[in-house]
Amino acid sequence: MSTATSAPPMIKATAVNKYFGDLHVLRDINLEVPRGQVVVVLGPSGSGKSTLCRAINRLEPINDGAIEIDGKPLPEEGKTLAALRADVGMVFQQFNLFAHKTILENVTLAPRKVRKINAEEARKTAMELLDRVGIANQSEKYPAQLSGGQQQRAAIARALAMRPKVMLFDEPTSALDPEMVQEVLDTMTGLAEEGMTMLVVTHEMGFARRAAHRVIFMSDGEIVEDEAPEAFFTKPKSERAKDFLGKIL
Ligand code: ADP
Ligand code: MG
Repeated sequence: MSTATSAPPMIKATAVNKYFGDLHVLRDINLEVPRGQVVVVLGPSGSGKSTLCRAINRLEPINDGAIEIDGKPLPEEGKTLAALRADVGMVFQQFNLFAHKTILENVTLAPRKVRKINAEEARKTAMELLDRVGIANQSEKYPAQLSGGQQQRAAIARALAMRPKVMLFDEPTSALDPEMVQEVLDTMTGLAEEGMTMLVVTHEMGFARRAAHRVIFMSDGEIVEDEAPEAFFTKPKSERAKDFLGKIL
């Protein structure tokens, strides 16, 4: 028998169900993501990918089931939720940067307010992160002065500034001009190589093949396949996945 201590999964969803009115958008979702794993979530539009991400950091309440982050259940509301949500960084298709704050201010805001980090420390960390995503020289600019790719990298730095345990990406490159997609994917690949636990909704199959340890395919609110990337792309099991891959590849 193994004597290794087993760490809890970073993300654990158990029998999660979610409705919007009569619409059953998450159907009995069971998912465990171990520490350091990169999971790419694929599926047609409307299959529940965004709702799953939003449920994982409680932007969206669930109707039943349970979600745990690093062994701790997500509470319904209140202070503990703010702290737990801070453990889960999220990057959206639309960068959602604060337009009237500089890039540096965008990155230091939440650590100062939520993590109560002092100004100097927050600034130092923010500059390190901006350097890591390759835009330290843009720190005094406002979001509108940056390209889409730079804004999305700023959004990644902002999420990382909270020192999250998990990063969720919901179609982070879908709103970008094609020439800016790669710089954002490269930033994400770097993060994956450093061991960040990541759940990534994306249509970038190159990223999925290269960076993902695992591919989850969703359809109509269900996880239909859960495979290693190579197996999924070469031998999808379900008709729904075959149909989906036929359309995008
Ligand atoms: P995906 O990200 O895979 O495209 P979503 O999670 O955004 O799918 O949506 C899943 C389903 O839930 C879709 O049918 C969508 O129209 C519906 N939906 C999403 N958000 C809401 C909402 N706030 N109110 C009602 N229906 C919603
Ligand atoms: Mg979506």
